[in-house]
Amino acid sequence: GKGAAMVTAVAYRLVSQRKQIDETLAPFKLSLQHLQDVKDKMRVELERGLKKDTHHSASVKMLPSYVCGTPDGTERGKFLALDLGGTNFRVRLVKIYSGLRKSIRMYDKIYTIPLEIMQGTGEELFDHIVQCISDFLDYMGMKNARLPLGFTFSFPCRQAGIDKGSLVSWTKGFKATDCEGQDVVDMLREAMKRRNDFDLDIVALVNDTVGTMMTCAYEDPNCEIGLIVGTGCNVCYMEEMRNIETVEGEDGRMCVNTEWGGFGGNDCIEFIRTKFDREVDEGSLNQGKQRYEKMTSGMYLGEIVRQILIDLTKRGLLFRGQISERLRTMGIFEIKFLSQIESDRLALLQVRGILQQLGLDSTCDDSIIVKEVCGVVSRRAAQICGAGMAAVTDKIRENRGLEQLDITVGVDGTLYKLHPHFSKVLKETVKDLAPQCDVTFMLSEDGSGKGAALITAVAQSLHSHT
Ligand code: BGC
Ligand code: MG
Repeated sequence: GKGAAMVTAVAYRLVSQRKQIDETLAPFKLSLQHLQDVKDKMRVELERGLKKDTHHSASVKMLPSYVCGTPDGTERGKFLALDLGGTNFRVRLVKIYSGLRKSIRMYDKIYTIPLEIMQGTGEELFDHIVQCISDFLDYMGMKNARLPLGFTFSFPCRQAGIDKGSLVSWTKGFKATDCEGQDVVDMLREAMKRRNDFDLDIVALVNDTVGTMMTCAYEDPNCEIGLIVGTGCNVCYMEEMRNIETVEGEDGRMCVNTEWGGFGGNDCIEFIRTKFDREVDEGSLNQGKQRYEKMTSGMYLGEIVRQILIDLTKRGLLFRGQISERLRTMGIFEIKFLSQIESDRLALLQVRGILQQLGLDSTCDDSIIVKEVCGVVSRRAAQICGAGMAAVTDKIRENRGLEQLDITVGVDGTLYKLHPHFSKVLKETVKDLAPQCDVTFMLSEDGSGKGAALITAVAQSLHSHT
């Protein structure tokens, strides 16, 4: 009768809803072959970035860091470390003790960089940084100490030495004018001159991946790779000098900042990009650039999720077909929310609570779908990040002519640290795709501050010996 017909109609609607959601999410579910292809393509791009002839047009820039070794425990001294480009801007005092007291002590302060400064003029940005340093020195009572400074600057820089480098392009949420192509150390020095109320000796310019690798290498000499999966995504590793054709010299090794976030800039990963990735790209500050980063890092995963949810809602499959103002708002799905939504310890009711907090009214069914969407997006991120890592570890293994490589990766970043499944999926993928590498992942406790100080210590002792 009528009742049965209604039940059939509801059942039909459910089946069709499921089918449409499955179809929407299918392109995010990558096969082992897909991942193998990502690894192979990454390998090609790593080589292209290193070679003189192809370097210029390469999407993975392979920037030399001028860091030629890992710490040996003899580093010591007092340093100032700046960290710009992650979730927070930090100023730190780092004290490194050597010998029997080998240890590191740090004192730091976090400052926010307002959006209008991140996207204002370069002069305003560097004046703001210098004002924060001044505040910190007052706070520590150290205005008159002329300390050596290590500057962790988490953007691609073309370095010509340990203490100079010009910004290739802004990434993530930064877009200050008149900086690209300029030497960032000079810009910092000039801002210090303008303010003229303290003096520091800028000794090293450091990418956050390199700082992270050095921090972990201080504890584990096997650490020769640095990985950041936070607001942005990037890797550095120790490469043979003979392979770095953009730097003179054949002997020894140098750490290369891969800037692998740019991978795919030449369309080589279009086969895994979805229309949602393209929408996220279109809404970003750097359209067409950092395509791999936009699939793997904290600043963009929530945006991919949001684009999928908008699409499902428009098709009447979610939120009763009502697109709220909130859902239209960029950046609402911060990585801490994605991490909570995907936590296995959370009941669906709590997922609904989080959505409520975000201003999204959901039914129980909605919350199941949202959790599923978050799951496929973060899983794909971890998998392709693992595929990239497998390319790097296999390259190092081949460089050294080894059957089996034993290596440690120093890791930092909010996505890696906060997300309940990311690190596990990443590790599994590396195991599957690089079976000849035994890779240990080591969390860096505060990463880049210590690392920048260690690099500064080494660079400074080199100076004073020559
Ligand atoms: C930058 C890298 C940085 C990474 C992680 C990327 O956007 O280009 O230099 O290492 O973010 O912070
Ligand atoms: Mg950082």
